[in-house]
Amino acid sequence: MIEDIEEVLYSQEALAQRVSELGAAITDHYKQAVDDGEEVVAVCVLRGATIFAADLVRAIDLPVVMDFMAVSSYGSAAKSSGEIAIQKDLVESIEGKHVLIIEDIIDTGLTLAHLVALLETRNPASVHVVALMRKDLPGQPELPLLGEGFPCPDAFVVGYGLDYAEHYRNLPYIGVLKPEIYS
Ligand code: IMP
Repeated sequence: MIEDIEEVLYSQEALAQRVSELGAAITDHYKQAVDDGEEVVAVCVLRGATIFAADLVRAIDLPVVMDFMAVSSYGSAAKSSGEIAIQKDLVESIEGKHVLIIEDIIDTGLTLAHLVALLETRNPASVHVVALMRKDLPGQPELPLLGEGFPCPDAFVVGYGLDYAEHYRNLPYIGVLKPEIYS
C-alpha cells in the first residue's frame, strides 16, 4: 500500500496526540450534562470514522453510549454526490440525549449537514459534530462543530479509516493518495 501514498500527512503519533486533545475537550464540554444525569450518544459514521471513533471514545473520560450509522458517501468515485441515503440507522433512541456525531472528514460538508438536520428531527438535547479532518473549501455549510482534528489539503487522503474504493483503511497514518490511483 505504501507505494500508492504520495506523502504522509499525519503520523500515528500525531493522530494519537490530537485524538487525546479532542477527547479532553469533549469531556469538558459534556461533563456538566453527564453530572446532571443526561446521556451522551457518540454516533460513529460508518465506515470511515470507525478507527477514529474507536480511539476517540477511549479518550473521553465520561460514560458514553456508542451507536452507528451508515450513510452513502463517495463509493469508489473520488467526488461527492451531494446526497445521502441512510443505509443503516441508529439502534438507540436519541430523544432528550446529547448526540456527538463522529465523522472522518468534512469535504463539501453536505453529508454532515444532512445528517445533523435528520438527527435534529428526533428531538435530541443537542447535536454536535467532531471531525478528524476538514478540507478548507468554499461554500461549506455551517456545522455545529465541537472539534476538528486537523486541516486537510484539497487532495484525496486515505488511512486511519479513510478509504479509496474500500482500500487503505488499515493504514495506521493518514496519507495523500497518488492521483494516478484514482484518475
Ligand atoms: P462531504 O459530504 O463532501 O463532506 O463528504 C464526506 C465523506 O466523503 C466523508 O465522510 C468521506 O467518507 C468521503 N471523503 C471526502 N473526502 C475524502 C478523502 O479525501 N478521502 C477519503 N474519503 C473522503
